[in-house]
Amino acid sequence: MKKDSYLTDRRIFLSSLLVLGMGLCEANSLFALSLKRKRVQAKNLLMPVSDKERCPVCGMFVRPYPKWITQIQFRDGHHHSFDGMKCFCRFYFDARKFDDRHTAADFTKLLVRDYYTLKFIDHDKAYYVIGSDVLGPMGHELIPFESRERAKIFLIDHRGLKIIRFNEVTTELLDRLDHARKTLVLDD
Ligand SMILES: [Zn+2]
Repeated sequence: MKKDSYLTDRRIFLSSLLVLGMGLCEANSLFALSLKRKRVQAKNLLMPVSDKERCPVCGMFVRPYPKWITQIQFRDGHHHSFDGMKCFCRFYFDARKFDDRHTAADFTKLLVRDYYTLKFIDHDKAYYVIGSDVLGPMGHELIPFESRERAKIFLIDHRGLKIIRFNEVTTELLDRLDHARKTLVLDD
C-alpha cells in the first residue's frame, strides 16, 4: 500500500516535470518567434517622415502623399524621403546631383511601399507595374508590389502595360513616364 502510493507520487512528479519541460520549450520557441518577428520588422523600418520633409528631387512635401512614400537611408543615419518611385529612381541613379553629402556608396536601406498592403519592402524585392490608370502625385509612376501575383491583379484591374523589376528601370523609362499624358506608350 505504501509502495503503491510512493509509485503514484513519483509518476505524478515525473509527469509534472514533463509538462513543465514542454511548457518551457513552448515558451522558448514563442520567444524565438517574437524575436524573429521583431528583427524582420526592424529590417524594413521607415525612418519617421516629418511635416517639413521635401522630396530632394522635385521639392514637393512628402507627408501629404503617404501611399506614395519611398525612402533611402544612409550610413551616417540621414535619410531622404520621396513622393514616389520616379523621384526615388532619379536619386538612386545620380545621388550627387541632389545631395552633395551622399553617394550611392552611403545607401544602407532602400524602401518602397506595396500599393495594396502599404508595407515597406526592399526596392529590389518589388514588382513594379507601369502604364496603369492610377497616377501618383507626379503623374505616371512605377507602382510597387511585394508579390508578382498582386502586381498581375493590379495590372489587369487598372489596365497596366507591363510588370518590371528594379534592375530594368532606366532614365529613359523615367522620362517616358514623366512625359506620358493619360496613356503611357512604350515603343518596344
Ligand atoms: Zn519628388
